[in-house]
Amino acid sequence: MRERRILVVEDERTIAQSVAARLRAEGFTVDMAGDGPSAVDTFRAVQPDLVVLDVMLPGFDGLEVCRRIQADRSVPVLMLTARDDETDLLVGLAVGADDYLTKPFSMRELAARVHVLLRRVERAAATPPAALRLGDIEISQTERRVVRAGAEVHLTPTEFDLLVHLAGRPRTVLPRERLLADVWGWADGSGTRTVDSHVKALRRKLGADLIRTVHGVGYALEVPA
Ligand code: CA
Repeated sequence: MRERRILVVEDERTIAQSVAARLRAEGFTVDMAGDGPSAVDTFRAVQPDLVVLDVMLPGFDGLEVCRRIQADRSVPVLMLTARDDETDLLVGLAVGADDYLTKPFSMRELAARVHVLLRRVERAAATPPAALRLGDIEISQTERRVVRAGAEVHLTPTEFDLLVHLAGRPRTVLPRERLLADVWGWADGSGTRTVDSHVKALRRKLGADLIRTVHGVGYALEVPA
């Protein structure tokens, strides 16, 4: 298998070096950037398979980095945040990160999250070809592309997986905990707001009427006319 490449964006040197050392020990090729602009440049130059991205950065912050790289190409992003309340804020903003880790974190936890994210993307890419059509929305699972009314819509890997999951069972109410377990692979039932933020992003990108909220339960995909 091709060696996988991870871009670590972190301006705190000690954290950046520990993260890079751990990921190299796990067999990844690691590139590093210490500010917003160089993160975007390095991303374009090395085409990493995953990005570990600190929020507070010189130049412009991790949110802006996330927006710019996700606009270029869909890539899994693990965001590093300074505090829990910062994570809450980011989840609410639906910036397109796939997972969050609050400092301080153990290198073991970081490695585990990275492996889960990569497995999810690789598993999704290995799924047999299937093109789904829902009204004017076309979903190509092989190319991981979504087109609405002839125009391509850029989704993050997690948004794409969530959409495919919902689209596979249209008009069926799926509980948030189950979506979290099936799409994110988290079984403990925590972090259901992560589901909410990704639904919010899908509505913003594909239309507010696409996903119906069933209060206190979960979400259902409505087939557009
Ligand atoms: Ca920082």
